[in-house]
Amino acid sequence: MKKEGEVRWGMVIDLGRCVGCHACQVACKAEHEVPLGVWRIWVKVVQKGTYPEMATVSLPWDCPYCERPEEARYPRMTTLFLPWLCNHCDRPICNTVCPVGAAYKRKEDGIVMIDPHRCIGCNYCRAACPYNVRYPNPITGMIEKCDFCVHRVESGLLPACVETCPTNAMVFGNLKDPSSKVAQLLSKEKVQVLKKEMATYPNVYYIGLDKDVADPLKGWEKHYYHREFEKL
Ligand code: SF4
Ligand code: SF4
Repeated sequence: MKKEGEVRWGMVIDLGRCVGCHACQVACKAEHEVPLGVWRIWVKVVQKGTYPEMATVSLPWDCPYCERPEEARYPRMTTLFLPWLCNHCDRPICNTVCPVGAAYKRKEDGIVMIDPHRCIGCNYCRAACPYNVRYPNPITGMIEKCDFCVHRVESGLLPACVETCPTNAMVFGNLKDPSSKVAQLLSKEKVQVLKKEMATYPNVYYIGLDKDVADPLKGWEKHYYHREFEKL
């Protein structure tokens, strides 16, 4: 059995590999029986680019609709994806505001947890989290979020999202073990975290993080389905 301080679970997500298939999102939903309208991991989608863009193409046929198809206007767009989940921060602001001690960070491995037997659904932690990753369960009213699939990890398995990702964009492991793939990626790749300025010290790192997809004001339109539940 590992001693306290020997394990710090973390994740590196290579956005250059993510194809936005949402498989991680669906696997998480199935693993945790997450109700409709809310998510523990969300793949944010942001499009950037220009339209119309004058592009020169050579078509092997005569276009019946335009006189000079080689100068037609085409969009020049890029679609960016960002799997977004709890960062299991080393300084989790969420925990500090919980009035009943239901939000806590495990000393043995750094996973930030919510005790469902203590949570009173006051939403304080949800308001305090700078990453908007906590949600109220629309059935129970309790606050939930990603727990790195602690039940699987304790059995030697990977989190469901990591296990499912078809492009191996998500890598999970012990950040304190130099031989782990996450530690090796951190030592050789340029990585970034979300909202570094909040000084929460996230344990989820991204390779190839574009400022537009990291922008908290972009790409959230579809995330707020659960607001509809709150109105009911
Ligand atoms: Fe807490 Fe939010 Fe950090 Fe997760 S991402 S540990 S909920 S502050
Ligand atoms: Fe991206 Fe992998 Fe999630 Fe698909 S499963 S959206 S490739 S991180």
